[in-house]
Amino acid sequence: MGWKITVDVDKCTGDGECVDVCPTEVYELQDGKAVAVNEEECLGCESCIEVCETNALTVEEV
Ligand code: SF4
Repeated sequence: MGWKITVDVDKCTGDGECVDVCPTEVYELQDGKAVAVNEEECLGCESCIEVCETNALTVEEV
């Protein structure tokens, strides 16, 4: 089992809050948008969801 991360690029402002908060460095900013480059490292803690001001992130168990 793992976690599937979806970034709504229309909502993402690229403020980097998810990059800073994620304990396992899942995210990276690319061209001003968050990209889940290490999705397999996700713990499902939902910290990124809590800090995202535009609700651009979805984390679901798969
Ligand atoms: S749910 Fe937690 S571990 Fe997963 S990407 Fe978000 S902050 Fe990182």
